[in-house]
Amino acid sequence: MQTQTYYAVTAPRLTFQPLADSSTDVEVAVLGGGFAGLAAARGLQERGITSVAVLEAQTIGHGASGRNGGFVFGGYSRDAADLVSDLGLAAAREFYAHSREAIALIRSRIEAHAIDCDRQEGGALLLNWFRHSARAERQLRDQARWLRENFGVTWDEIEPAQVRQWLDTQRYGGALLERDAFHFHPLKYALGLARVIEHAGGRVHEHSAVMSIERLAAGGFVLRTSHDASIRAAQVVVAGGAYLKAMLPALTGARLPIATYVIATEPLPPNLRPIRTPAALYDNRFAFDYYRALADHRLLWGGRISIQERDPARIAQMLQADLLKVYPQLAAVRVSHAWGGLMSYARHKMPQIGQLAPGLWFAQAFGGHGVAPTTVAGEWLADAISGRADLPAALRRYGLTPVFGQAGLLAAQATYSWAELRDALKERLPG
Ligand SMILES: Cc1cc2nc3c(=O)[nH]c(=O)nc-3n(C[C@H](O)[C@H](O)[C@H](O)COP(=O)(O)OP(=O)(O)OC[C@H]3O[C@@H](n4cnc5c(N)ncnc54)[C@H](O)[C@@H]3O)c2cc1C
Repeated sequence: MQTQTYYAVTAPRLTFQPLADSSTDVEVAVLGGGFAGLAAARGLQERGITSVAVLEAQTIGHGASGRNGGFVFGGYSRDAADLVSDLGLAAAREFYAHSREAIALIRSRIEAHAIDCDRQEGGALLLNWFRHSARAERQLRDQARWLRENFGVTWDEIEPAQVRQWLDTQRYGGALLERDAFHFHPLKYALGLARVIEHAGGRVHEHSAVMSIERLAAGGFVLRTSHDASIRAAQVVVAGGAYLKAMLPALTGARLPIATYVIATEPLPPNLRPIRTPAALYDNRFAFDYYRALADHRLLWGGRISIQERDPARIAQMLQADLLKVYPQLAAVRVSHAWGGLMSYARHKMPQIGQLAPGLWFAQAFGGHGVAPTTVAGEWLADAISGRADLPAALRRYGLTPVFGQAGLLAAQATYSWAELRDALKERLPG
């Protein structure tokens, strides 16, 4: 089995030179070459600020952005109904609409710059795991109606018989189809976007971990990197996700690094391909499976949430067992790649976006639902930094709430275990 991710093995070998000198000045320096950092840098360029530098500690897409399930879908980690309770209907509706606009923006960037990232249109299908529960079927339909009535969003209701035509499994009941979602190879997209930023006059540096950010008396900041190089910037965006180490405690103390895991199988022979829909697939449990068919006929399968990072052999074993609960006919299929990744979660499960001090911006805590929201953050930050618009006032509701380190992690694990238990009971005792 490969120890690298499937994405790392199949992406082009694009490299970006480390920052090597200390003579560069830019308008905006961005810490982190994940989707949040790249979206902010590209958003700035699209608003006429071309002098940007992205500094990435490892390689572009090394974090969650280059390891994820590849689902590009609407919404945030926090439930849509909770957004309404927090913000009121109008602001919640606007936030949700931004996430859908971000899907369109990602799509249009892929097309405008011919980013080759295996984009597969066909939506995202939310499947009812609790097939024997009439209540769970009703809840799915209520969810569709709620989205339509409150956010004006249509998710198609799919009958169980149709699900069984699309998927060779008896595991699920009905489903909801979010049609304008798609899926892609996230690392190819991250690398492609980094190349676009560079072609537009920006700087992208890999192996350039930012070790410190100092405010200069004359204005602006200096960022020093691991190779003793430095760069000056009028403004800074910190987008280090769960991979940011203790450098800025206000940020690292406000989000928990939570692991989730992915495997890819070897290519499936024609008689064993169980998926006949181009949609990306996930189910309605708290710790759901998320999976999709890849262009080369492998199955990419993700799942589990944990506070522990695990080694690839253990991940392969756990996720293959999950896969076989749905598709037992794939028992003889080998797992070719297994990996984990860290998501960053705030206690409120919403992204944290704001300013630590004038000119020192941040965007983190996109959780497990971050591909579109990181793009929303990039747009908001680019508007704010370029002086076009302030950050939405409603973001203040989702501040840098402390997570209490190890105690917070243990509490998160207890919450996950409880939610998993509740789902297991719901499966045994359908209502
Ligand atoms: C396994 C997995 C599956 C997921 N599946 C999906 C999905 O299908 N759909 C979806 O919407 N979301 C998904 N997510 C969530 C989504 O991937 C994340 O929310 C999103 O990618 C976060 O982007 P980010 O830029 O904030 O962080 P990251 O992508 O983690 O990027 C942060 C970057 O900052 C760098 N960095 C950290 N510290 C420094 C420093 N000091 N100097 C320089 N660089 C630094 C890191 O090396 C890293 O590359 C998944 C996440 C995981 C882990």
